[in-house]
Amino acid sequence: MAKTAIITGGSRGIGEAMALKLGELGYNVVINFRSESSKALSDDLAARIEKEYGVQTLVVRADVSKYEDCEALVKATVDKFGENIDVLVNNAGITNNCNFVDITKEQYMNVINTNLMSFLHMTHLVLPYMINHSSKDNQCCIVNTSSVGGLTGVINQADYCASKSGIIGFTRAIALEFAARGIRANAIAPGMIMTDMLRGVNQDELNALAATIPQGFIGDVSDIAGALEYILTAPYVTGQVISPNGGFVLQ
Ligand code: NDP
Repeated sequence: MAKTAIITGGSRGIGEAMALKLGELGYNVVINFRSESSKALSDDLAARIEKEYGVQTLVVRADVSKYEDCEALVKATVDKFGENIDVLVNNAGITNNCNFVDITKEQYMNVINTNLMSFLHMTHLVLPYMINHSSKDNQCCIVNTSSVGGLTGVINQADYCASKSGIIGFTRAIALEFAARGIRANAIAPGMIMTDMLRGVNQDELNALAATIPQGFIGDVSDIAGALEYILTAPYVTGQVISPNGGFVLQ
């Protein structure tokens, strides 16, 4: 029987690549998105996953920064696929690009609520289901998308860095707390990856960004999907931060 995976922020970019990977690995995939404009993208992605990998999908619009939306997302998952939730990928994220004097409270709270609180809400709601069916031989996995911004400071990204560092501490604590129950928790901390987050940047700025990366180029969403595959197929790996970043944090 196929296992079930939920991914938040699965409509585009890194989330889209990870949703495809989950399908390829044989999971039924619950794809979450937030914006009305991403509904068609999410539906199309779900159809591609079903056609390509023969698994089932569910598309759920929910603003995961809100606990009640997370409750509805988990309920929709259980209604369709039953109570055995095997994988949770917390991936939804946003960024401001603003110094910490000019930023408003609403802006930084939105980043913290989306990037960090949603991870706590979803984990809190999914863990009881995982605990009920996980064991050493039937592991459940939580995978959290952090960032190199959680490993280093980034100018004009104080709120973002706070959220992404918080994710790493949260991941390690959950890994420790639930290791003996067969639940693994790991984080992926991408470096610069070409997605909508970078698409507003012009070519000169992209070249300048690439020049700050020791390997000299911006990463691809497949680099992050590959890290997800590694984590899901590595039964002795928990509490770790895997960071595909072209050497960015070595400098
Ligand atoms: P995109 O902007 O391409 O996609 C963001 C995704 O998050 C979309 O699916 C979006 O949904 C979803 N989302 C945002 N807010 C919410 C919310 N409140 N509720 C539900 N879904 C939401 O970003 P990336 O693919 O680049 O980023 C994905 C993750 O990777 C983020 O956590 C980001 O911080 C992290 N990351 C990205 C890096 C990069 O260079 N791209 C580097 C390091 C980390 P919708 O389509 O409906 O708006």
